[in-house]
This record gives sequence, C-alpha cells and structure tokens, in this order.
Amino acid sequence: MVDQQVGELTPASKLPLVRAISASRYYQVGDSEVRAVDEVSFEMPPSKLFALRGRSGSGKTTLLNLVGGLDRPTSGQVLFDGNDLRKMSDRKLTLLRRHRLGFIFQTFALLPVLSAFENVELTLRIAGVGARMRRDRTNEVLSMVGLESRAQHRSFELSGGEQQRVAIARAIANRPDLLIADEPTGELDSVTGLEIMLLFRSIVDEEDISILMATHDPALSQFADETFLMEDGRMKAAEGPLDFDLPDLIQHIEFSDEGGEELSNTDESREDKDSKSHADSGLSESDGSGTAGKLSAPDDSTTRDHSIWRPKR
Ligand code: ADP
Ligand code: MG
Repeated sequence: MVDQQVGELTPASKLPLVRAISASRYYQVGDSEVRAVDEVSFEMPPSKLFALRGRSGSGKTTLLNLVGGLDRPTSGQVLFDGNDLRKMSDRKLTLLRRHRLGFIFQTFALLPVLSAFENVELTLRIAGVGARMRRDRTNEVLSMVGLESRAQHRSFELSGGEQQRVAIARAIANRPDLLIADEPTGELDSVTGLEIMLLFRSIVDEEDISILMATHDPALSQFADETFLMEDGRMKAAEGPLDFDLPDLIQHIEFSDEGGEELSNTDESREDKDSKSHADSGLSESDGSGTAGKLSAPDDSTTRDHSIWRPKR
C-alpha cells in the first residue's frame, strides 16, 4: 500500500526514529520574539511511547508540529528516520505525513457527516490504497479500537471517547511509524482518558508503532516509556516512568473478570454500551506484575487475533 516514492525516505539503518538537534522555533510578534521551542535536543528510538509534558504555552504543540513536518525550525534540525525535515521538499514532506505519520488531536478532527468507517477509509483512499484492501484494513482497525459495531454511525452520533478511538483507528490505518498525539485526552473525562492511554499502550506494544504524545497531565506519563518535560520552550529534563502504582491509578476502570463471554463478538450485547465503556486491557488486579506502564494483551482465545482492545459491555 505504500507509495514507491516513500522508499526514498527510508535508509536501511537503525537510526533513532526522531532526533532533534538544537531545534528552535521562534515567532516574531510585534517587536518581540516568542521562543516557542528553544534549542531542544532529544532522541526517540523506535517502538516506544513518549510523553511530552508541560504546561499550556510551554511549546508542546510547536514541537509536535516540527516533528510532524507541519512546520520547519527557525534553526537547528529535526530528523525523521535520519532525514532532515527542513531540507525536505514540500512534496516529500506530504508523502512522509501521508505514509509514515499519523496525527491525533484533542478535538478528534473527524468529518461529522461521514460514518466512522468512512472517516477511516478516507485516509486510505488518499494514500491510494485499493478498494478491497481499504475495506479490510478499515474493518480491522475499527475492530482493534473496539468499534466494529459503530462502523456505520456518523461521528457526531458517537461519544467523545468513541470519536477519539475512530480518530486513532484512522491514524493507524496506514501503519505509520509514528503517531503524533496532541493532548489526545484533553476533551475526555479521566476514565475515558485512561482508556485511550491503554489503547495507546497496546498500539505501541502490539502494532510496533511509536507514539509521541503531548499532555499537561502528569498522571498520563505513567503510561509512557519516557517523558520529556517542556518549560518555556526548553526541554527541561527527560525522565523514565514516574513511580506511581498503576493499579491504583486506574482503580476507577472496571475490568472484565468474566472470561470469554465478555470478549466474544456477538452482536446482541452491544446496543447498550454507554459512552463510558470500560477498558478490558488484559491488565487485571491479579496481574500483580507491578510493571508500571507495561500492559499485557487479553489472552482469551475468543478474542480476535488482531483485536488489541475490547470495551467492557
Ligand atoms: P503548548 O502546546 O505547550 O500549549 P504552544 O506550542 O502552542 O504551547 O505555544 C508555545 C508558545 O508559542 C506560546 O507562548 C504561544 O503563545 C506561542 N505561539 C504558538 N504559536 C504561535 C504563533 N503562530 N505565533 C506566535 N506565537 C505563537
Ligand atoms: Mg498545545
């Protein structure tokens, strides 16, 4: 499904997926200069979940835009898979965004009159994927996010959490290397936000896709492999997962304890699923591994092979 030309972007190497070297983005506002991103350097190895934490105005969105090739640095470099984004032509940047990146926003950014299915499929259509593969992959990713029963609903008929899951399905449909998520839980209540984080964790661990996520919520760093802190455009410190007890943190999520029935794909039990559907991530109280942020997949044999997240019904 990948455009031939994208091959030009991919050197056969084990470079970090993203590397910023003294990257800055300054804005001129009247007489003054706003240092939205100020000489930031960091590296992201592949297949990890990175949280970019910081208060509003600290420069998170500006940095995500640089990494996503939506904006170019005033000075310094941002490399994606070894390619300097500043030197890339607009055409190549477009191809990079289309084939190797996925974007998720706080406000979901779905087309309201299109169904969940159509919202996802459109991305594949734009990428030039054939009709049959489009349909199969769309069904597959909607199933991954637990929304196959909502495929024909228009997005305005869905809850916020469901809309964000459609947006995630859309973003991963084309099997990108990196998902860029800007405050993806900002519009959601805290339990639904945690469900989105569990889904992110599954995507990284099982789909081998990296995620760079901006958030102002310190609790969400718990799900990340690494956290970068932004303050006034500067990257202050990088740290590993905070020492929270994850089961405590997600105690308000009700996990399934009812075995295969709960996870099966029958249609009858779906109708009344409310908008606050609960995650069954496979992380249960009896998990006891205590491994912060590392969640295991449901291992129930009735779960579809490609299903990485099931709502509790
Ligand atoms: P965050 O996402 O952490 O809230 P932003 O990256 O949006 O932060 O903004 C960082 C700083 O850059 C803020 O002071 C903001 O006002 C400023 N800024 C962002 N975009 C622009 C712009 N287009 N023009 C001028 N200033 C901007
Ligand atoms: Mg922002």
